Amino acid sequence: MIGGGQLARMTHQAAIALGQTLRVLAVDATDPAAQVSPDIVLGAHTDYDALVRVADGATVVTFDHEHVPTEHLRRLVANGVDVAPPPEALVHAQDKLVMRRRLTALGAPVPRFAAVDSAEGAAAFAAQAGGGAVIKTIRGGYDGRGVVLCDTVEQAREAAAGYLAESVPILIEDRVAMRRELSALVARSAFGQGAAWPVVQTVQRDGICVETLAPAPELPAATAAAAQQLGLRLAEELGVVGVLAVELFETVDGEILVNELAMRPHNSGHWTMDGAVTSQFEQHLRAVLDYPLGDTAARSEVTVMSNVLGAPQPPAMCLDERVHHLFARIPDAKVHMYGKGERAGRKLGHVNVVGRPGEDVATVRERANRASHWLSHAEWTDGWDPHSS
Ligand code: ADP
Repeated sequence: MIGGGQLARMTHQAAIALGQTLRVLAVDATDPAAQVSPDIVLGAHTDYDALVRVADGATVVTFDHEHVPTEHLRRLVANGVDVAPPPEALVHAQDKLVMRRRLTALGAPVPRFAAVDSAEGAAAFAAQAGGGAVIKTIRGGYDGRGVVLCDTVEQAREAAAGYLAESVPILIEDRVAMRRELSALVARSAFGQGAAWPVVQTVQRDGICVETLAPAPELPAATAAAAQQLGLRLAEELGVVGVLAVELFETVDGEILVNELAMRPHNSGHWTMDGAVTSQFEQHLRAVLDYPLGDTAARSEVTVMSNVLGAPQPPAMCLDERVHHLFARIPDAKVHMYGKGERAGRKLGHVNVVGRPGEDVATVRERANRASHWLSHAEWTDGWDPHSS
């Protein structure tokens, strides 16, 4: 796996159970996956020689992020390496303009968009949209980096001018009036088998996914089925091998628009580790190893995933002690920590709470968020104090 982040770390966990060894190309020996895999190659994903070293003798090469240059991947394939997803598919998760053009050609719904080559062009597009527009870098964005939400024509002009002055390729699109964000997570194996998990709602803060509700509450069955079908169709048409996350907007009118594609395990699928029969990490491995895919059914009526994001000030209480207290209070919280140093806003881990029979979404949500906030802040959101009870 190229990249030593938390996705590789959790894929390694799944690989153990399948009797596989995940070799990881990590930048640093302290990366989340480098801490746990015995088979680490240190190097940069932009260095072709490092990619050759990690691919040497591997059954298949896959990714924990989409930042490997496409030309390097093409060269690996030309040299006989099995790359999954293949570069022709992966480019749709790397290049937002290529993705939007291809999806338009396939008749999949995307926000109105245009490539931007001048600040005036961006301003004209935003004016047509009534001012509400979004400027995005075409490559390299993640967790909201490289995304500028604009309310006015002037903001769009300024944001575009800033990027263009640095020669950063950008696009502009309509700012969507949305009810919420959804994610349709599917997998496709090398053989072509497809599988879809229940469609989930994702909650973003400052461009970062902080919470996932599985399945998306009160999503009409027809909309959920259409989103799953869309995910499976895109996986097939684009030739994806592995997990595909289709990030969606549910508009205020109940329409579905595609925002982004990710071809790897995704934050919106972390709930599957505890809430589904087959986790996205196991499924990704099954897909790239061309095994039959696993059952994607949910284990409960509701599962909530809450990300543990670093507090503005790391608490004085050590993490070990926080985990101890959490388990004393919420014994069914499933904790997944990434082995990262604490920094404000950094994704340090996540907590899954699988709803008990009859438990409603709001209650499960409250428990999951209480757990994750405790882990990052050493504060109980409900003000509970063990010494006064
Ligand atoms: P990244 O590549 O960083 O994940 P995204 O394209 O997913 O960037 O955008 C990050 C967030 O910005 C989205 O989750 C959404 O909340 C908001 N956003 C992105 N595009 C639009 C849009 N066209 N309209 C409204 N909000 C948007």
